[in-house]
Amino acid sequence: MSRRREGWLDILVKAPWPAGIAGGVIGFLAIRYGIGWFLTQFGGPVLAGTGRLLSSGALASLAWLVLGVCWLASGIAWRLSARRAALLERQRAPEMQATPLAAIESDVAAFRPVEKPACPRCGAAMIERFSRTTKQAFLGCSAYPGCRGTRALQP
Ligand SMILES: [Zn+2]
Repeated sequence: MSRRREGWLDILVKAPWPAGIAGGVIGFLAIRYGIGWFLTQFGGPVLAGTGRLLSSGALASLAWLVLGVCWLASGIAWRLSARRAALLERQRAPEMQATPLAAIESDVAAFRPVEKPACPRCGAAMIERFSRTTKQAFLGCSAYPGCRGTRALQP
């Protein structure tokens, strides 16, 4: 987030979305009718003329603009709150969280067969065997007894 000064639009977006709807309607009515009515009633002879002019709709487009902006902001606020709710929902259900990539990779590594060198005689895969005579593990050709190739077991 940048540290720019918050404008009134930011405040509107951060407010709960019904506040934007209500604020838009209030702003619309105040600009469209309220100011004109106020000037007509309390403005004195000079401002009363201006008040009558405003009441006739001179500020109508401004009033619609305020209504539109407020409703747009409340729409954004509604979207933001929906996203925040979805985020909280995901935090409440840990099993639904995406598994960190590193955990998946270590799982895969655990199940990956240990890479064993190929048989020096025939090139077939080699299997870990145990020699009863030497009492040591070694790699024997998977084609045994057809092939008697062996290798020392690499730790
Ligand atoms: Zn072999």
